Amino acid sequence: MAEIRISVGGDTRFVDTNDLAGKVQAKRPKRRKIREPKNPKPMEWLAQDYSQEKIADYKPFNFVDGEGVRCSLYVSGCLFACPGCYNKAAQNFNYGRPYTQELEDQIIADLAQPYVQGLTLLGGEPFLNTQVCLRLVKRIRQEFGHSKDIWSWTGYDWDELLQDSSDKLELLSYLDILVDGRFMEPLMDLTLQFRGSSNQRIIDVPRSLNQGEVVIWDKLER
Ligand code: SF4
Repeated sequence: MAEIRISVGGDTRFVDTNDLAGKVQAKRPKRRKIREPKNPKPMEWLAQDYSQEKIADYKPFNFVDGEGVRCSLYVSGCLFACPGCYNKAAQNFNYGRPYTQELEDQIIADLAQPYVQGLTLLGGEPFLNTQVCLRLVKRIRQEFGHSKDIWSWTGYDWDELLQDSSDKLELLSYLDILVDGRFMEPLMDLTLQFRGSSNQRIIDVPRSLNQGEVVIWDKLER
């Protein structure tokens, strides 16, 4: 047994070092667990298993969800569970209201306005709601061709989508721009254009599919 002398508030005491070691160890601060979004295996999550074909919100004529004036559809349900998610309520597949023919007709009528540049899909997770999103983007291409552009946000990153189910690949093929990747709280940067964290990318989809590698949107400023 070894003793050392310590001074507490002007008082001198002798303490057994074995006791002290135990106390120091007991008071060591707990390591903070870093919470991270979930990482699915390819085809682990399928829209057919999760989507309730519901939408959390529809916002016509906004200026924030991509380039120009846009109509934004927020679908319900997302499994990534990113800490700090900007729309946590929409992670629930049952949140909101059903997607209806009436709403679809309204979106098409709104998009027909000459000052509207295009549609934006957000969520929730559009690629886990392909029943709704494919139906809408197909109609947009039928009615407007490529005179209206289509943007989508996703928690998947580009390489993950390429390895996933055929409905996800089909939706990707209708897009002009994809903003990819989970929201990573430690990489949050509010100065970025249309993104919340610096791992996310604004991808030119047709050029990326043509060239077989990710091509970043050529209007990216920051
Ligand atoms: S991917 Fe988007 S909607 Fe899904 S949890 Fe992450 S931030 Fe929220």
